[in-house]
Amino acid sequence: MDMKGKTVLVTGGSRGIGKAVALAFAKEGANVIINYISDEEGATDVIKEIRGFNVEGLAVRANVSKAEEVNRMIGEIEENFDGIDILVNNAGITKDGLFIGMKEEDWDQVIEINLKGIFLCTKAVIRKMIKQKYGRVINISSVVGVIGNPGQVNYCASKAGVIGFTKSLAREVASRNITVNAIAPGFIETDMTGVLPQDIKKSIVGTIPMKRYGKPEDVANAIVFLGSSKAGYITGQVIHVDGGMAM
Ligand code: NAD
Repeated sequence: MDMKGKTVLVTGGSRGIGKAVALAFAKEGANVIINYISDEEGATDVIKEIRGFNVEGLAVRANVSKAEEVNRMIGEIEENFDGIDILVNNAGITKDGLFIGMKEEDWDQVIEINLKGIFLCTKAVIRKMIKQKYGRVINISSVVGVIGNPGQVNYCASKAGVIGFTKSLAREVASRNITVNAIAPGFIETDMTGVLPQDIKKSIVGTIPMKRYGKPEDVANAIVFLGSSKAGYITGQVIHVDGGMAM
């Protein structure tokens, strides 16, 4: 897939799925900006790898749930690049616990980062995409945003919200040649799932028809496709990358 001349912003791109996505786009020839919140060292390493593909790379710090930080980040990007063609809203967190004991702050924080973060980042780039009559917005939801999961009401609500956001915005901007899609990964080997206890991990594998966790690259491949010209007639969709967990 030829991505030469395209500029991609991946939020939360210093590790995990975001890093795999950033590198996959760079490999296809796109210029890649990664956003990070605190892991400057990780972000710097990813940028080195991106530049290794002979494309432009830039890391910009911002908390995606804070409007002023997001707007500053987009301003900084626009000083260096013409505009953003592809936005991958990847940054996300979990604050798990059974509903009965869930604290209001754990609800708020997850919704603010996983859902409001997508609102803020997309809002900051969509006007320019409309003007340039081209754009791809790819939001990372989750299989549990579709099927639910005990201990994750906050996370599942945020990820289900991402799907509603995706479908509504897709309808609003389709006529402007902007596609908006969501990816719903299943259980992927990253730091986020690395913290799960061994017995839980084992029981999760039992629920995956393909009997293995996914790799960040499995998700990245689908995202690069959605970001490419080959996916130009796909919008408002939720693409599951989950080894068959939700069918
Ligand atoms: P991860 O924890 O490795 O990566 C998340 C990234 O988001 C980190 O780099 C983190 O620093 C960044 N981040 C968190 N809060 C931020 C903020 N406020 N502003 C900017 N960046 C912030 O986890 P991952 O597994 O790579 O997850 C990536 C995305 O995929 C998340 O949205 C996650 O919910 C989603 N997802 C993951 C899985 C999985 O099994 N790993 C499954 C479904 C969905």
